[in-house]
Amino acid sequence: MKDNAYDVIVIGLGGMGSAAAYHLARRGTRVLGLEKFTPAHDRGSSHGGSRIIRQSYFEDPAYVPLLLRAYELWEELAGLSGLEVYEMTGGLFIGPPECLTVAGSLRAAREWSLAHEVFDAPEIRRRFPTFTPGADDVAVYEAKAGFARPEMTVQAHIDLAAREGATLRFGEEVTGWSDGPRGVTVTTGSGTYTAGQLVICPGAWAPELLTDLGIPITIERQVLYWLDPAGGIGPFEDHPIYIDENANGQQIYGFPAIDGPTGGVKTAFFRKGQVCTPDTIDRTVRAGEVDEMRDRVTQLLPALSGPAVHTATCMYSNTPDEHFVITRPHDYDNVTVACGFSGHGFKFVPVVGEVLADLATTGATAHPIGLFDPRRLVTT
Ligand SMILES: Cc1cc2nc3c(=O)[nH]c(=O)nc-3n(C[C@H](O)[C@H](O)[C@H](O)COP(=O)(O)OP(=O)(O)OC[C@H]3O[C@@H](n4cnc5c(N)ncnc54)[C@H](O)[C@@H]3O)c2cc1C
Repeated sequence: MKDNAYDVIVIGLGGMGSAAAYHLARRGTRVLGLEKFTPAHDRGSSHGGSRIIRQSYFEDPAYVPLLLRAYELWEELAGLSGLEVYEMTGGLFIGPPECLTVAGSLRAAREWSLAHEVFDAPEIRRRFPTFTPGADDVAVYEAKAGFARPEMTVQAHIDLAAREGATLRFGEEVTGWSDGPRGVTVTTGSGTYTAGQLVICPGAWAPELLTDLGIPITIERQVLYWLDPAGGIGPFEDHPIYIDENANGQQIYGFPAIDGPTGGVKTAFFRKGQVCTPDTIDRTVRAGEVDEMRDRVTQLLPALSGPAVHTATCMYSNTPDEHFVITRPHDYDNVTVACGFSGHGFKFVPVVGEVLADLATTGATAHPIGLFDPRRLVTT
């Protein structure tokens, strides 16, 4: 579509959109990226300093090949940007042997021959003295787990996309888009743009930007807590990431101390939030919420008994089965959509960028994305 001003317009330059803009631009595509907020902002889903990355994927072993490619691209991104966008710390996935966190991680590790070890409770305590697991708990330990830095990652993709020639416009909200035989038209408060292809990465704004697609997505408020460890951050400096599941199936997760001596140690509940919208989310974190977090995490890590030095809110975009949506919707000729990352998308950011660039430029991808077809969610 050479008569259009751009080859591809990307709506939303958060985690996924910034990666898509970069992967498109580096293929020589004329890219326009449109973002309603500032670069690497904290109003969506890609902020808060750290995101767990891991490969023994309890959610479904089908994610593993994407993770193997994502890890290659994480390394490449670190090299190209010169930034420590991720760090390997090792990861512990803890709980009763039959729980999803443990059994699911083990299943993925075995199916894909991923390096891992299994520890019983005394072994966990011996190797990682900060932890006090239940007597019957076990842990899958994965050395190739760690964390990515979301704001740094988004900024790195934005900078690299711009370096490759992408036009990126911030503070510009998309108010409408349409698809036609000659390409797409996108309207913002400042103008109207045309392109051959459209890639939409709306995060928590999916329900409003994708109204006609009928993809069921629920937005959920999540809280992040940085707790001050009694006795200082020392034992948490060289510390694995962890996900812990209790007998009720409730999961918490956390990170090493990466924010300096007074920055606290970050922990959170996985999937425990109120339904909201980006407009109605309550950004205030209450003392009762901090108490609930501390009561739960100190069962596993007793040293995290101090006050919260910082809290933040963030949004999950949940599909009913908590698997992603990555698709070229059938009723459109020139549109690619990536949404519904259901609270576990960040570790895939670089490979989703590559997949979206494949789909927008060739209409197909060699990556296995069958699990993310939204037709699975249609109930008739
Ligand atoms: C608390 C929390 C913890 C998490 N922990 C992990 C973890 O440990 N590991 C992991 O892998 N994942 C984790 N996730 C999930 C992961 O962070 C998300 O899946 C991922 O960041 C989603 O990226 P996105 O691009 O879809 O959304 P976003 O990064 O929010 O990007 C969407 C962008 O679209 C823009 N936009 C929306 N509407 C418009 C419009 N009309 N015009 C222009 N721009 C628009 C928004 O401003 C935003 O920048 C976590 C998420 C949260 C909230």
